[in-house]
Amino acid sequence: MGLSILIIDDSKAIRDTVKEYLQKTSLFENYLEASNGLEGFKIMLKQNIDLVICDIVMPGISGFQFLALKGSKPEFQEIQVIMLTAEGSVDQKVKGLEQGASDYVIKPFDPAELIARVKVQLKIRSLQESLRELSITDGLTKTYNRRYLIELMKKEFYRAKRNKSSLSFILLDIDHFKSINDTYGHQQGDSILADLVPILEKGIRRHEYVARYGGEEFALLLPETDLKGAMIVGEKIRREVQGFKFTGQNEPLNITISLGVATFHDNNIETVDHLIKAADDALYRAKRNGRNRVESVDPEDRIFGIGGEG
Ligand code: GH3
Ligand code: MG
Ligand code: MG
Repeated sequence: MGLSILIIDDSKAIRDTVKEYLQKTSLFENYLEASNGLEGFKIMLKQNIDLVICDIVMPGISGFQFLALKGSKPEFQEIQVIMLTAEGSVDQKVKGLEQGASDYVIKPFDPAELIARVKVQLKIRSLQESLRELSITDGLTKTYNRRYLIELMKKEFYRAKRNKSSLSFILLDIDHFKSINDTYGHQQGDSILADLVPILEKGIRRHEYVARYGGEEFALLLPETDLKGAMIVGEKIRREVQGFKFTGQNEPLNITISLGVATFHDNNIETVDHLIKAADDALYRAKRNGRNRVESVDPEDRIFGIGGEG
């Protein structure tokens, strides 16, 4: 999808000029226009905007007031604004930057300068996106990392509470992984961790999440899934992993996993920490009861693993 720019200025002539200059580049696909700050803000509420160019003095809601409106919405925080200011007004430039603008262009502006400044803002934006991506991703497996998982859990927990819907959480751990490392080497262990992820991803639906919880432990977060449903998901994945031939040095390798399931609403759980603790207890039980199996916190809901050691 191409990028969208919003041009806010009460002068149509200026909007046209800005647009004309920018159209000579292929930086943007969509051009949106507004003749005052309020109109611009309303457009942002409805559409994805990647960059804003905004005049300061406009009838109705001014550029400064626009910055204040935009600042009130956390989801707009990363959208950069370049202010258009009249020559010489240092005060206005400073005020704009202090109120959250990223840069300014002086009117009447030079096309090359306008384009250069726009490019700088887009570069910052793409760097911010890469940083964000890096900060939520596990390097080896490219799944979400634990930090982001906890963020997701808090969000989904709040939502499940509000909507009175279920939220299931599965912790899974590779069985006897230490011996795989010991026998085949750490590198082989690493590649198994990476190869496990597509199997986990295949086992869940959209709007469900896989994360690396730590070491050889992964987590699945399943919104709107009750305990019974989560047990079925867990059992399906357990079976898939058991049957999968992982690439080994000479011959394919097999591994098994143990899974612990807990569900908000079905189990006696009041916080995200409880939910994690409950799944962890269930996982511990799956290990103790023979590995290669799925356990929940409530023995009534237990689905016995197939081919376990115990
Ligand atoms: P259990 O069935 O009880 O889970 O036995 P286990 O051997 O899997 O468990 P244990 O906790 O004793 O050992 C976990 C092993 O996982 C030891 C550690 O070296 C390995 N491990 C953790 N993270 C990584 C990793 O990123 N890469 C590799 N190759 N190994 C890892
Ligand atoms: Mg293990
Ligand atoms: Mg472990």
